[in-house]
Amino acid sequence: MNYRITSIPGDGTGPEIMAATKVAVAATGVEIDWVDVEAGADVMNKYGTPLPQQVLDSVRENKIALKGPITTPVGSGFRSVNVALRKKLGLYANLRPATSMAGVRSRFEDVDLVVVRENTEDLYSGVEHNVGDDAAESIKIITRKASSLICRFAFEYARKEGRKKVTAVHKANILKLSDGLFLEVARGVAAEYSDIEFEDRIVDNMCMQLVQKPERYDVLLCPNLYGDILSDLCAGLVGGLGVAPGANIGEDVSVFEPVHGSAPKYAGQDKVNPTALILSAVLMLRHIEEKEAADALYQAVRDVIGRGETVTYDLGGTAGTSAMGEAIARRVREISG
Ligand code: NAD
Repeated sequence: MNYRITSIPGDGTGPEIMAATKVAVAATGVEIDWVDVEAGADVMNKYGTPLPQQVLDSVRENKIALKGPITTPVGSGFRSVNVALRKKLGLYANLRPATSMAGVRSRFEDVDLVVVRENTEDLYSGVEHNVGDDAAESIKIITRKASSLICRFAFEYARKEGRKKVTAVHKANILKLSDGLFLEVARGVAAEYSDIEFEDRIVDNMCMQLVQKPERYDVLLCPNLYGDILSDLCAGLVGGLGVAPGANIGEDVSVFEPVHGSAPKYAGQDKVNPTALILSAVLMLRHIEEKEAADALYQAVRDVIGRGETVTYDLGGTAGTSAMGEAIARRVREISG
């Protein structure tokens, strides 16, 4: 059966890592008809918006998308396309695994964490205004409905993946109402999952604990902002953004994308690491229940990085994006026989 999957290469280094990823995925033998759609800073002039309607239509129709990074101007300019996509498509859960890999330099060896991040509200609701000339307010929104959805998702995920513990992250000592509600909901949902250990941590303490003893943690359940920040921290624990994948999951639509951004200073240089997007494709293959293909692609990534011969600059090598993608594809074919 051929799958129809939307591909959003994005801008900056996105198109290069997308090309390398398609080569690696093709080697698994899973037949995918990619439907390429354009979004991002580079299409502003052509369509008058960085998020043309056909992008949303295509993802809604195909239900699954693989996405490269998209630049967001800082301070002024258009609002984040990434945030808009998650909100418009109801992608309420953001899953960001961080797992140690041989061959990736890092301070720790046994990290195996998953950040489950609420993806639709909190300070990312985009409710901001100026108060006169010298002040501005950004409103943090936490609802029982969105908190229940993400808490249930985290426990269901933990159960399905055989994970032992969920840690809710918050600042309810200060934000008594908003984070207090999130924590109250998390405790209520945890009570329904007696097979999974539950604890909570204040976000500042969580940061220190993670850089001292990351092996003590398993699934980190976070509201939007803390999840965004902690997932970069967790990526740093396992060797950096070049190897950190992600998934945005909704009721019936899912978009798979790396944690990292568009790294615009390297655009067009065939230089950056395609691993984070390739590992996002592994999550995608698992999601569509192509387990063998997902396992082969995952193992191929680990083998190529472990050997250290055909890897990009961030992993201490000299290979380009496309060469690393091809090396992973060759290894997939060897593994699959
Ligand atoms: P970034 O992740 O693009 O890059 C930060 C640095 O990390 C790079 O300069 C590079 O040194 C390294 N890096 C990132 N990806 C790498 C890779 N694949 N291989 C090797 N090294 C890599 O973060 P930034 O510079 O803060 O953001 C650039 C743009 O991307 C911004 O406009 C930001 O808003 C956007 N962004 C988009 C997404 C997304 O599309 N989901 C996520 C984060 C940031």
